[in-house]
Amino acid sequence: MANSWRHERWDSLRLLTPNWQSRVPGLRYEGPDPDGYMTVGEVTEFIGRFAAASRAPVRTSTTVTSVRRTDDGYQVATSRGEFACRTVVIASGACNRPSVPGLSSGVPASVQQVTTFDYRDPGQLPDGGVLVVGASATGVQLAAELARSGRPVTLSVGEHTRLPRTYRGRDVLWWMDKAGVWDQRYDEIEDLTRARRLPSPQLVGTQERATLDLNALTALGVQLVGRWAAIRDGRALFSGGLRNVFSLADLKLGRLLDTFDEWALTSGRDGEFTAPERSEPTQVPATSRLQLDLASGEIAAVVWATGFRPDYSWLDVPVVDAKGQLEHDGGVVTDSPGLYALGLPVLRRRKSTFICGIEDDARDVIGDLAKYLAGLVPARV
Ligand SMILES: Cc1cc2nc3c(=O)[nH]c(=O)nc-3n(C[C@H](O)[C@H](O)[C@H](O)COP(=O)(O)OP(=O)(O)OC[C@H]3O[C@@H](n4cnc5c(N)ncnc54)[C@H](O)[C@@H]3O)c2cc1C
Repeated sequence: MANSWRHERWDSLRLLTPNWQSRVPGLRYEGPDPDGYMTVGEVTEFIGRFAAASRAPVRTSTTVTSVRRTDDGYQVATSRGEFACRTVVIASGACNRPSVPGLSSGVPASVQQVTTFDYRDPGQLPDGGVLVVGASATGVQLAAELARSGRPVTLSVGEHTRLPRTYRGRDVLWWMDKAGVWDQRYDEIEDLTRARRLPSPQLVGTQERATLDLNALTALGVQLVGRWAAIRDGRALFSGGLRNVFSLADLKLGRLLDTFDEWALTSGRDGEFTAPERSEPTQVPATSRLQLDLASGEIAAVVWATGFRPDYSWLDVPVVDAKGQLEHDGGVVTDSPGLYALGLPVLRRRKSTFICGIEDDARDVIGDLAKYLAGLVPARV
């Protein structure tokens, strides 16, 4: 139960979604701090309470080793026996493995490499400089933690999603919720493939409700470099053009804040908030290094914060594309009747992979599944 939260998260992690957004069917946060952010232990406890309240017949500590199609459904093999069923819902998560680029194999053996699955706290890394790769939620949080521990930190930055923690006095995720951004449906999004690959926002959950964008990291002494493009002769080579990457993120942030302001006006609630604000542009470093000699001893460790990927190695049905993603239409798996999915990016809505997103998606997908079992929808083949 709550396996990923127990075993695959670092010690200091708190949810980046506020407590009021921690809600699952029949259970919501009702503690004294709705605007706070849960620790990993609190998330585990919350899911435990949901498991107890829902009394769903879950077989815990059971690994599914294979799912095969049969004439009238699926044969599921597990570490505790086999069973047959007409339908299967794949809810195995979107983040089963760290996604590490192939160039990691060229990093000299003298440099320790850590993924976000292995990382627990700064004390685990050897003394010396750290290169954190990736500037989404995980990368910015780890870069800040490592810089505060006194280490020289370099952060390799590619495309990213900049967000302030609060806007006009409210949590930025409150605005996303109210302005309807979270609820935007997958079939209303112009470029769904891109939306499903968007980097997670640069957010952290702290009591101070502090913003953790690249300007905040620069203030902490983190050195920003471009996207890690290649390794040559033991040297990491970074892309130039940080100015363009920063401008794009600033532009997208400005557009999002415009959406919030528009909602405030059209909903008649504009007077409830402080005046519209705009973030300072992201500061471009006066000089940005284009390469770093990994054999010089300057960098003792590389932390790969380059995202996660799902693992379908146990799924013996040909519904996974060349990039390892499940082929589905809103959680209805394409080309395999009776197979469904939940918990994947923008499955039916922008909020699909967040805890607060599961309720609406589950209602829709299970609704489709029930119709299929009742013979009310033709099997999609
Ligand atoms: C670093 C990090 C931070 C996050 N922060 C937030 C946040 O602040 N707020 C938020 O709302 N969401 C956050 N998320 C997203 C969060 O993971 C989801 O909201 C939630 O955990 C998704 O639940 P899930 O059940 O879909 O997937 P998971 O939590 O990944 O659970 C999937 C489960 O399936 C199991 N499983 C996989 N394969 C098999 C198999 N073959 N047999 C048996 N079991 C299997 C896994 O072990 C796991 O227990 C974060 C995710 C990550 C990685």
